[in-house]
Amino acid sequence: MTVFIAACAGVYGLVLGSFLNVVIWRVPRRESIVKPRSHCPSCETQLSVRDNVPLVSWLLLRGRCRHCGASISVRYPLVEAFTGVLFAAVGARFSHSWALPAFLVLTGALIAISAIDLEHFIIPNRIVYPVGFAGVALLTFAALAERKWAPLERSLLGAVCAFAFFFTLHLVAPRGMGFGDVRLSFVLGLFLGWLGWGDLVGGIFTGFLLGAVIGILLIVLGGHGRKQHIPFGPFLAAGTMTFVLAGDQIVSWWHGLGH
Ligand SMILES: [Zn+2]
Repeated sequence: MTVFIAACAGVYGLVLGSFLNVVIWRVPRRESIVKPRSHCPSCETQLSVRDNVPLVSWLLLRGRCRHCGASISVRYPLVEAFTGVLFAAVGARFSHSWALPAFLVLTGALIAISAIDLEHFIIPNRIVYPVGFAGVALLTFAALAERKWAPLERSLLGAVCAFAFFFTLHLVAPRGMGFGDVRLSFVLGLFLGWLGWGDLVGGIFTGFLLGAVIGILLIVLGGHGRKQHIPFGPFLAAGTMTFVLAGDQIVSWWHGLGH
């Protein structure tokens, strides 16, 4: 059953990854994500269905537009493959939980947010707000279905705590911590709180650690001035996904160290 759910989630991830590519391109440019249909960014020809199959089309066309021959960024198949793999992993991890839909929504959103933040240094409200609302609704549904209220209480409290923590950091260092990160922290607290307090602290801390280590590496290795902005969203997303997928193992390993 777990394998079946993981496989379904993986295929769904490949297809959704194709849509995430549209979101990643259009949301920062304030374009509609529904209309018009996908088109070649170079010659504007609309993509036919056969040229819009995740991964396969890009490979068959060897990364070029069928009409004008313009090369198509390798980012497109990479986002699709990455979404497929992460969805399969989340499907396996939550195969016995009603919280699976909620965590798939989170995963897709974090991929889009990370890609946009890396390129444009913004975390769009057009993604964070809907995911926040969907997260509360889907986790409430999971609590109802499983008749367990403790995770949901922890979720809401975790969201408020994470928001308060990041908001304080933003007040102290507004240049280091943008308000997009503060809004995002509410969503991360919501989902990590569902898993447990250890996951919440661990996920956020791992995000900070990754950001600090890679930020320092970029400065030391040159090419990146101290004053240049380093997007924080992808690191918070990576820390969060680490605990979404392996939080149980990490938290119990951590407890084992003390005994
Ligand atoms: Zn073209």
